Amino acid sequence: MKSNCKIYALKVGERVVDSTNFLYLTDAGKLSIIYYYFWCILFDHEVILVDTGFPEDLGRERGITNYMLPEQLLGRLGRKKADVSMIILTHLHWDHSADIRSYPEANVIFQKEDLSFFTGPLGDYSIINRFISGKKEIKFLSQRPNIQIIDGEFHVTPGIITYKVGGHTPGSQIIAIDDAKGKVILCGDVCPSYRNLDENLPGGIHYSIPECLNAFEKIRSLAGPETLIIPGHDKAVYSNHGIIEEGIVRLL
Ligand SMILES: [Zn+2]
Repeated sequence: MKSNCKIYALKVGERVVDSTNFLYLTDAGKLSIIYYYFWCILFDHEVILVDTGFPEDLGRERGITNYMLPEQLLGRLGRKKADVSMIILTHLHWDHSADIRSYPEANVIFQKEDLSFFTGPLGDYSIINRFISGKKEIKFLSQRPNIQIIDGEFHVTPGIITYKVGGHTPGSQIIAIDDAKGKVILCGDVCPSYRNLDENLPGGIHYSIPECLNAFEKIRSLAGPETLIIPGHDKAVYSNHGIIEEGIVRLL
């Protein structure tokens, strides 16, 4: 069954990084601008988010520029945070999940393996926990009453399926939306830019190279010729699609 929705990319901010952050062992020393997004799936009577963006103070701390408040972006779509009924987290890194506290009523879906990884013993290493907003925050998230901690493929609503692919983090998932108007795959950070998929190049921040490569195959196997494949941080997502208002592009 297909969904009938509109899909938007909402841009929270941007940052200049070394290219190796997103292209494994490639173009070292070359700087590039990456954009930070979350995604909004809008139905007539329901709002589903994929990821949340992050609060302003955290963005400032992490060197994000041109920051825009998530509520301001949702407001431009005529919605409030309180309208959001469900949030699917592609993974638990700070830039994708750190605004979760401001959606106390929403049902939150994420993969079990990210939770055990970041709250387990390896989560004590700074090389691991530098990417989350804190072990305490992840534990807080896991104790919400309205969560669905899943393990593997999961049918969210008719037409929306998540697939655990790992690679970037152990529980990274991609979200496929099969809509009456077309198909969209939101890749999260297992594929942060178009180049990763085009060149079979894992991102520089990864958990498993084999899983990254298998994730690229999974994305290709799910995609038809007309499918929109949306990487996690590529600024071209913004320029390739119709800008509705500042910070908002309509994908479908
Ligand atoms: Zn990210």
